[in-house]
Amino acid sequence: MPYCRECGAKMIYDRDTRSYVCPGCGLTYTTQDLLIESRKTLGERVEENRRRRKYAEYLDWWTSSKK
Ligand SMILES: [Zn+2]
Repeated sequence: MPYCRECGAKMIYDRDTRSYVCPGCGLTYTTQDLLIESRKTLGERVEENRRRRKYAEYLDWWTSSKK
């Protein structure tokens, strides 16, 4: 079961509209929306890791150059 990206509530599948509805804020997702959303999240996660690694390298350089 997917979670709402706005409020984090568990989303409920509505068979009539074939989409997920958030009981917390009323947001609706179609299954297509969810696919796009999960892909985006993965891409953002990769980007975040890359940024974090770069910062760690910078810290290494900074601390070693101070010696
Ligand atoms: Zn919500």
